[in-house]
Amino acid sequence: MTARIPLSAPDITAAEIDAVTAVLRTPHLSLGPELAAFEAALAAYHSVDDAIAVSSGTAGLHLALLALGVGEGHEVIVPSFAFVAVANTVLQVRATPVFAEIDPVTLNLDPAAVEQAITPRSRAIVAVHTFGVPADMDALQAIARRHGLVLIEDACEAIGAEFGDPPAARRVGSFGDLAVLGFYPNKQLTTGEGGAVLSRNPAHAARLRGLRNQGRLSGAGWLDHGEPGYNYRLSELACALGRVQLSRIGPMLALRQAAAERYDTLLAGIPGLERPALSLPRRVISWFVYVVRMPESVDRDHVHATLARHGIATGRYFAPIHLQPAWRAHSSPGAGRLALTESIARRTLALPFFNRITAGQQQDLAEALHDAMLSATVALHKHNEAIVVQDFNAVNGRFD
Ligand SMILES: *Cc1c(COP(=O)(O)O)cnc(C)c1O
Repeated sequence: MTARIPLSAPDITAAEIDAVTAVLRTPHLSLGPELAAFEAALAAYHSVDDAIAVSSGTAGLHLALLALGVGEGHEVIVPSFAFVAVANTVLQVRATPVFAEIDPVTLNLDPAAVEQAITPRSRAIVAVHTFGVPADMDALQAIARRHGLVLIEDACEAIGAEFGDPPAARRVGSFGDLAVLGFYPNKQLTTGEGGAVLSRNPAHAARLRGLRNQGRLSGAGWLDHGEPGYNYRLSELACALGRVQLSRIGPMLALRQAAAERYDTLLAGIPGLERPALSLPRRVISWFVYVVRMPESVDRDHVHATLARHGIATGRYFAPIHLQPAWRAHSSPGAGRLALTESIARRTLALPFFNRITAGQQQDLAEALHDAMLSATVALHKHNEAIVVQDFNAVNGRFD
């Protein structure tokens, strides 16, 4: 069933449709002028030397780790409160993800926890700008420098966000040794599937371009492979879509900012509901999702299910990586010290959020959310009473 109010929705105009159909009238469907134009525009937007477009954000993370020499025997410090690709790609290069705790306000890696997670085998930090809120790049850069680690920014949720004090504030993606963007349809900018790696180092850029294209050497022939590589190319159709989306990124982010501000007002009256900060010191937020936190007394999953029955989609972002069935079997270093990650993740709910969400839809959501929270509180109390009765019976030796 498609939801009456979806969790996310791409914003595609006639300009995108025209650009993609124009590509179909040319003989260049891959590795053509749209790739060059999209990469140049991405690099310029982020004030970096190079952007290397790839087939997904996950592919970008994989290549960034490879290009920075992360491999067997290395540990990579990552958040567990993140998208699973952040840890999967570390495994794919045969390194070990080490989970570190997050800051309760920004939901990004806590620099003090990162420092504690460092061992002689540490090689890299992946800083995720979670939900479009920049991580503390000053602190993370300083730690990386002090310990000789490489720093990768996962900016898949944060295109256009900025960190630092004006006038020195910079867009995220320009702080790390490499940075990764993602263009899945729920992101601020979409190419259907796609991603990019941002580089400030020509040697890294050349290596990334080779690895994305079967390890082909730049300037060499189609059958000259410098190293084993991958097919992580992004088609001309996707690049055309991305180029037009990027040309509209300012107005698109402004629509999201306005939607976040409307939510902030509409939800202010719901008792116990924690809203995300609309602004944070030293940061310009790029609104990827709008994530609220339930009070402990409310059963978040009950709220999620109730809203779904009313045709309103919400997301339980994020389910911690170290608690996933695929990851429980791994003895992931750091997994034992993630109490904050676990308690926050139990309470978060991403609300419907996209460029063209209407004030009316947001109003509907606010009312439905308030009602769902009231019924979820009751449900939780009943559940607890049942447990109390059970415990009482158990203590009294009655197991009926
Ligand atoms: C979306 C996202 C990615 C990349 O996802 P793909 O689906 O592979 O493009 C990576 N990291 C984070 C934190 C993301 O949100």
